[in-house]
Amino acid sequence: MRQAPAPLRHLRKHLSRLLLERRCLACGAPVRGKERGLLGGRLCADCAAALARREKGFCPRCGEINAWPALEPSPCARCLVAPPPWQRFLFHGVYEGMLRELILRLKLGGELPLARLFGLLLLEHPELRELTAGLEDEEPILVVPVPLHPARLRARGFNQVLELARPLARPGFRLEPRLLCRTKNTPTQTTLHLDSRRRNLRAAFSVTGDTRGQRILLLDDVATTGATLHETAEALLRAGADRVDVLVLARTPLPNRS
Ligand SMILES: [Zn+2]
Ligand SMILES: [Zn+2]
Repeated sequence: MRQAPAPLRHLRKHLSRLLLERRCLACGAPVRGKERGLLGGRLCADCAAALARREKGFCPRCGEINAWPALEPSPCARCLVAPPPWQRFLFHGVYEGMLRELILRLKLGGELPLARLFGLLLLEHPELRELTAGLEDEEPILVVPVPLHPARLRARGFNQVLELARPLARPGFRLEPRLLCRTKNTPTQTTLHLDSRRRNLRAAFSVTGDTRGQRILLLDDVATTGATLHETAEALLRAGADRVDVLVLARTPLPNRS
């Protein structure tokens, strides 16, 4: 076979390098061979460290971040008195630093490839597998992203929560983006306390499908007071859901730490 001319050979070499080379989903830097173990080679070592999962120092029922990052998860005062309507609360990290920056780049900057990174981070949560354990022959868990109001969806063009739910469409889970809809367009009032936020959100969601006897994994990007999750979980349980678990990408830190 005749050898290809030098520029073509060079192009081929360059192309194959581009195709084989993995770039970090968070910062775009090439991921070197020895780093391949981090999120399947999708994150560089620096970003993997900055985006590590919070493993301790929070309330396991509502994710409230406490001031002691090395403390084994222990229930907060509020959950001891009035436990939330969901069973498990799984989250990836604290809403600060690189995780916060990337979430804002997705939500405000429309960088949709970041949703895939977030979905993969969520998928790595060790307790996620426990939820589907023993469910092989049963109905899958319905993954329900917290919806945006249609007006806000039109303005933004996408629901970031639905985008980060997509990698979760795996055996044992079924994505149900239309089960829940938001009927009231409430402004984001992050400064309000849980009770005031819940009053604002009353009757803001309705269940539009059959949830009777179903297990549901409610998904949101950021949990601040948990008011949205309380309202949506209660709406799903009122509509007959058997059990609701919660999966959240980021939990806001204590007000005095931010
Ligand atoms: Zn990186
Ligand atoms: Zn709690």
